[in-house]
Amino acid sequence: MATIFSKIVAGEIPCYKVAETEHCFAFLDINPVVRGHVLCIPKKEVDYIFDLDDGLFTELHLFAKRVAKGLKKVCPCIKVGEAVVGIDVPHVHIHLIPLNNPGDLNFAHHVEMKPEELSALAAEIAAAIE
Ligand code: AMP
Repeated sequence: MATIFSKIVAGEIPCYKVAETEHCFAFLDINPVVRGHVLCIPKKEVDYIFDLDDGLFTELHLFAKRVAKGLKKVCPCIKVGEAVVGIDVPHVHIHLIPLNNPGDLNFAHHVEMKPEELSALAAEIAAAIE
């Protein structure tokens, strides 16, 4: 069965998209731990990041780097942090999280954002990605 992220890539369920290439896709996390929490995924459905072939592994990380640079312009932070968990959704995803202190990388914490706020933020990040 297709993962929820494959359904997002296919346009079968909505997302707050920030970037797309031939093989990769980025969108806002629906339950952000901080404002600007982005997920970068390969379009190909692979569960475990270290099972990606070297080419796609590299491509995904270069894509995440490009997204992170745009994200940092829009969400003021000291650094954009990167995390890979993958316990809930069995489809490779890199979490990009704007960090202003070490505690910001806390998956037990969430910020409330309205759909219109997420939508506006996604458009802003998309426009900032070169
Ligand atoms: P994990 O697999 O543990 O790395 O966590 C999966 C992440 O995907 C969580 O941060 C969820 O909030 C996020 N997530 C799950 N469904 C969606 C969705 N439909 N759109 C955006 N983010 C999602």
